[in-house]
Amino acid sequence: MCIFCKIAQKEIPTTVVFENEDVICFNDIHPAAPVHVLIVPKKHYEDALALTASEDAEKVLGSVFRAAAKVAELTGTQDGFRLINNCREKGGQTVMHVHFHLIGGATLSEKII
Ligand code: 5GP
Ligand code: ZN
Repeated sequence: MCIFCKIAQKEIPTTVVFENEDVICFNDIHPAAPVHVLIVPKKHYEDALALTASEDAEKVLGSVFRAAAKVAELTGTQDGFRLINNCREKGGQTVMHVHFHLIGGATLSEKII
């Protein structure tokens, strides 16, 4: 079982920022910003393309964006945040279980796009 599956199934104790039926949200172990929360579908999909190809895509992606709004509220980042997905190796993905980074809590200046 992959590391994010173990966290989602509570086999590894983690402080949960927010969860709903489809996703679990917890702090990144190496924060890149004052707020850095991972939004992780509970079901294992390798990456964003695998999730998008699944029959659950609309429901799970809706839950991801609703969770992001809730995490922004809970972390006080409604004034601005980024939601990032690194997809596959060339996209910089290192954990092969799809996830979205919500970063904020500071003015995010290092824009590449
Ligand atoms: P990626 O590089 O795949 O887009 O993002 C993977 C993220 O997962 C990295 O930011 C990394 O710090 C984080 N990460 C890796 N292993 C763990 C872990 O065991 N616990 C937590 N909370 N974060 C992790
Ligand atoms: Zn997994």
